[in-house]
Amino acid sequence: MRGLDHLQDRVAEFVRSRGWARYHTPRDVAIALSVEAGELLELFQWSETVPPDLRRRGVRAAIAEETADVAIYALCLANAVGFNLEEAVLAKLRKNARRYPRGARPSRRRLPGSRRPSQYRRG
Ligand SMILES: [Mg+2]
Repeated sequence: MRGLDHLQDRVAEFVRSRGWARYHTPRDVAIALSVEAGELLELFQWSETVPPDLRRRGVRAAIAEETADVAIYALCLANAVGFNLEEAVLAKLRKNARRYPRGARPSRRRLPGSRRPSQYRRG
């Protein structure tokens, strides 16, 4: 099975072969990643069903395509900054495993609706 290393190389070659590397500053790639995440969220905006009805023709494909855009820009950002995304993901999974051991309940601070009214900012 080919992993993120392979995809990171493919994305780098795609960018390099088109002469786009000069446009791929970490700042601009991070912005592009966020824009693509916004396009993904747009598919969920004003949806009558939450999540959107995956049985509707094209909905699943549209979500997959926007998710792929996010992943591609994550790989571009790794190339622009100079780190290996596969190693970063694996390191983060190990960190999360230590932070959230099996059987542990999620922190109440992070659950929706668990904030007291006084914790919300006013104005
Ligand atoms: Mg897109």
